[in-house]
Amino acid sequence: MDFQCVENCSKCCIEREYYPTVKFGKVGVLVLPQEKERIESTAKNLGIKISILPRIGISYEKSDKPSEIIAYQLMGKEPNGNTCPFLDTENQERAPHGGYKCKIYENRPLACRAYPLIESSPVVLDSKCKFCESCGTTAENMNQEVEALIKIKSKMTTEAPYVWRYATGIGEISDANKIEVGWFLES
Ligand code: SF4
Ligand code: SF4
Repeated sequence: MDFQCVENCSKCCIEREYYPTVKFGKVGVLVLPQEKERIESTAKNLGIKISILPRIGISYEKSDKPSEIIAYQLMGKEPNGNTCPFLDTENQERAPHGGYKCKIYENRPLACRAYPLIESSPVVLDSKCKFCESCGTTAENMNQEVEALIKIKSKMTTEAPYVWRYATGIGEISDANKIEVGWFLES
């Protein structure tokens, strides 16, 4: 079956999840270092306030923080971490499938171009995507998404011995005592 967004859906631009656990807080949209400046200046030109936090860091020697950041994340604008700041929820205009429009659609991050793809060979879709709820986690016609995912993977490949993950400190008020903030060594 061909992939197409479910009518009126904007779920992937609104809902943010704890990843990999509640301790790390809610994640944002993955932003590569090569994309960060472009997204920041696009936001500035549009007068949109955004927050980009680190996501994954690496280091070649033992230390208390990474020496290089290989991925960032664009945080949601709500206090609980939800809703991308570029999602146009105030305008009557809608995307072709009826969902809210993305204000930077032509310039959106690679991660948005790849979504809902999480594996490219064979094709596997994120089960949290609304399309998957009715149509399963595979689909045809995903060439653009496959290309975006391959680009992300190639940019994030590292042989550094130490890999760090940043805890965002952001989530639901009810989880506040479980959520941390700052760098944690993964390997
Ligand atoms: S959650 Fe899936 S169906 Fe809904 S807008 Fe995102 S990609 Fe499309
Ligand atoms: S940048 Fe655009 S496509 Fe990506 S999450 Fe935000 S609103 Fe959605």
